[in-house]
Amino acid sequence: MNAWVKGGLVLGGLAVGLGTLRRALNPSPRYAPWEKPPYGDFENKVLILGGGFGGYTAARDLCDLIKNRDDVGVLVLAKNNFFTFWPMVPGIVSSDIDARNVAQPLRRALITAGASFRRAEGKKLDLEKKVVVADGGIEFPYDHIVISLGGLPNFFGIPGVEEHSLTMRGVEDAERIRNRVIERFEEVSLIRGEVPESKLTFVVIGGGATGVEVASEIHTLVHENLAPDYPNIDPHRVRIILLEALPNILPELDPALRKAARARMVNQRIEVRTNAMAQEIIENCVKLKGGNNISTENVIWTAGNRPNLGIEADGLPVDERTGIKVDEYLRVEGYQNVWAIGDCAAVADIREGQDGMVVPPTAQAAVQQGHVVARNVLSTIDGREEDLVRFEYKPLGQLVELGSDFAVNEVMGVRFTGLVAAIFWRMAYLVRLNSPQSKVRVAADWIVGLFLRPAVTQIRGTSER
Ligand SMILES: Cc1cc2nc3c(=O)[nH]c(=O)nc-3n(C[C@H](O)[C@H](O)[C@H](O)COP(=O)(O)OP(=O)(O)OC[C@H]3O[C@@H](n4cnc5c(N)ncnc54)[C@H](O)[C@@H]3O)c2cc1C
Repeated sequence: MNAWVKGGLVLGGLAVGLGTLRRALNPSPRYAPWEKPPYGDFENKVLILGGGFGGYTAARDLCDLIKNRDDVGVLVLAKNNFFTFWPMVPGIVSSDIDARNVAQPLRRALITAGASFRRAEGKKLDLEKKVVVADGGIEFPYDHIVISLGGLPNFFGIPGVEEHSLTMRGVEDAERIRNRVIERFEEVSLIRGEVPESKLTFVVIGGGATGVEVASEIHTLVHENLAPDYPNIDPHRVRIILLEALPNILPELDPALRKAARARMVNQRIEVRTNAMAQEIIENCVKLKGGNNISTENVIWTAGNRPNLGIEADGLPVDERTGIKVDEYLRVEGYQNVWAIGDCAAVADIREGQDGMVVPPTAQAAVQQGHVVARNVLSTIDGREEDLVRFEYKPLGQLVELGSDFAVNEVMGVRFTGLVAAIFWRMAYLVRLNSPQSKVRVAADWIVGLFLRPAVTQIRGTSER
């Protein structure tokens, strides 16, 4: 075989290989039959309110279960057309991951699975009429509804928190925090005389996983990504303070892991203050219980969550603190066709020793509930009450990342920390992203980040407040 023929065969093989890879990474949508006859024509309309961890999982599972049926239609209604992959949101602060890769396209993933999707904010749930009224007055009828609206920040009525702090409840919030740090660097680089201490002091309130991750990401942003671009600002002048009202940070973790996390932060000169309760926040100061004040213009609030009950619904049984009341099958008390899951639902924890407790608001709990609710909705549609599954939470572990090279993990009773834990953190979450495209993009961000410093530009406008 001459060289030209060999070369042609190699090129042909390469083209076929690339074509196959492209098709695998971009699967065709499964529109039919769900989009073709309008959703309203289905005998059994399942409306899923919310496209986050719980709602998305429920929709995917239901689509799998009804693959060969044409009597059930699934429609997801969510106020954003993207799925927020929460564990990676803090990574946006340091520019470790591009925000657009953390906000994953929901419409594409759902129609590929076989569900319909509409971006709309549910305003009112009419349980009598069996409709959700969305913004613009558009009505979405249902036979079964799964409510999975997630959580909201809880300010516990502390004066000034809402007005003077940034929250961490979404991709936009992470962008705002990042822009705030860059903004302060820009301002300080213009100051000729004494720089007020409050400008470069960043106070993160809440020593849970989100607070710890945010404080660490600010450290990475300042020391690794901003410092080289602002040679006139000594990064060691920046104070990052983590405040926790309880005696320990990461109270849900094993004490050895807590200790490792704290040691790492102290090494990085992040000030960790426990037993420190913020009592009031004013424009340039956090006032602590006991009389101490911290001079700062940059407060980030991560200290509390509450269920999102932001839809008007007469007759829905709710507990303001824990959420929509459901039974062990995730069915809303008093209704056959209304279900609630995730952070907005008060799901009893039926594990031994957890009497009276509700399942914690985590992504893993929402996903497990999504699997169970999909089966239970279909069993109810088919009149197979005996097949209803009770929900029992099975925690798989806890993973907390403190920068790209350190994490503290507990997985099925095994505890580990450091670089290996950070690599495990990345692998564990990478495989959980909802599409092959997202996996490739996030992996690319991380690989490129090993060699190149991210471009830390500040796009001003909506993302600074
Ligand atoms: C910064 C951060 C980091 C986190 N990291 C982790 C982690 O590492 N591991 C972990 O297990 N958990 C983590 N969590 C918790 C986890 O994200 C939640 O427990 C999980 O997302 C709950 O799933 P959900 O479906 O109830 O809500 P979400 O995933 O928040 O989804 C809510 C959905 O409802 C939609 N929605 C809200 N209101 C309306 C409306 N009126 N009309 C229509 N749609 C609406 C939203 O657009 C969204 O699609 C983190 C949380 C935060 C804030």
